[in-house]
Amino acid sequence: SSVIAAEIESREIASKAVEQDARHVWHHLTRHAGQESMVVVKGEGMRVWDAQGNEYLDAVSGAVWTVNVGYGRTEIADAVRDQLVTMNYFAQTAGNIPAAQFAERLLEKMPGMSRVYYSNSGSEANEKAFKMVRQIAAKKYGGKKHKILYRERDYHGTTISCLSATGQFERKHQYGPFTPGFVEVPHCCEYRSQWGEVDDYGVRAANEIERIILEEGPDTVGAICLEPITAGGGVIEPPEGYWPRVQEICQQYNVLLHIDEVVCGLGRTGTWFGYQHYGIEPDFVTMAKGVASGYAAISCTVTNDKVFNLLHDDDGDGRMDYFRDISTFGGCTAGPAAALVNLEIIERENLLENVQQQGEYLRQRLLALKDKYPLIGDVRGKGLFMGFELVKDRVSKEPVDESVAMAVAGHCMQNGVIIGRTNRSFADFNNTLCLSPALIATRADIDAIVDAIDNAVCCVSQ
Ligand code: PLP
Repeated sequence: SSVIAAEIESREIASKAVEQDARHVWHHLTRHAGQESMVVVKGEGMRVWDAQGNEYLDAVSGAVWTVNVGYGRTEIADAVRDQLVTMNYFAQTAGNIPAAQFAERLLEKMPGMSRVYYSNSGSEANEKAFKMVRQIAAKKYGGKKHKILYRERDYHGTTISCLSATGQFERKHQYGPFTPGFVEVPHCCEYRSQWGEVDDYGVRAANEIERIILEEGPDTVGAICLEPITAGGGVIEPPEGYWPRVQEICQQYNVLLHIDEVVCGLGRTGTWFGYQHYGIEPDFVTMAKGVASGYAAISCTVTNDKVFNLLHDDDGDGRMDYFRDISTFGGCTAGPAAALVNLEIIERENLLENVQQQGEYLRQRLLALKDKYPLIGDVRGKGLFMGFELVKDRVSKEPVDESVAMAVAGHCMQNGVIIGRTNRSFADFNNTLCLSPALIATRADIDAIVDAIDNAVCCVSQ
């Protein structure tokens, strides 16, 4: 009877939370007017439950590509609890045990990289890199080489400077004026090719970066910040030839290469990091979401020796310079404690291999849906990070209206499967629906997800 009493009490708490939420909480990316929000109460593996007790298969890892190792990992929760009881906080001006241990484990996975700078979110990790670029410009180039390039359709975060480095109109709309010194380069989505069908699309798209560097003046461009695979901007994997040319251009014009792994990092695409598919040697790698799978807030700005040394040499007056930045909660201590166990789980359970296998299966099943429904114009992505673009017409590639993408996602939701969709249509590509199930997804999970999509697209196509 105490079990039943506890059950009744938790149901009462949950239904009260629905009212409290509706009255007081301002949700992210939500219009609110007439829109009901889900209140989540429990997660286990790939599944979550809402306050009404409905069960969902989560095909997006916590809505934003985060819960890489799945819900309900008591092992991570225990490590966090133990760490908090032993040593909950001291600023990163000092070290702590989990931050030191995680940095070593992480760098083992990132040959060529040597330093980890901790903060709390993907936006913050990117801001740190931007500040490093600006400081290097000030120290070494009289402030001139301060510009940072970013790519159309990429997203780098929510702060004004991260939005200044973002190529999505729908995220930037009404938030200007932006931070000066951020310059956009064209997207690299072959499906939306600027040149029609060509053999060398990847190289052409990369050459656009050179064009912009030459326009701006190579002595003014300090860095370029790119997602390895554009995530929220439409799941866009740069085509063959792109990355080697980007690396060449960066070397030729002395431009630092910043790869934003906030989504692709920690196994999402079947390698530890997305850039590792393409043989790139970055100067900065930023990461957040999957670093601790949402069990604690943590992000990292990882650099190579070159960047670290540029910021720690003599600043001209005989004193050693330093990165004059602090983040109160960055690296302390729950974050790295969770991240350490998260990384061990990915290793122990061979999740990279699972991503490769299930990712390929997911791709094949989505391609089969594309053959079946003209509504699906393109299937893109890598590993357990896939997207499919909805079009009115295969030839014109005209995007469907937002309501159609919403209907497909809504239909899946009603059938107990949560898939991702982009928020608002101003430009191309945000008619793309996204899938990023946890790295533990089984073949049966993939089947359940794709069956729900099949059903949804079938209904919406009629
Ligand atoms: N970079 C990328 C590629 C992202 O997708 C996001 C968030 O979606 C961010 C950065 C920002 O991360 P956060 O929301 O943790 O600040």
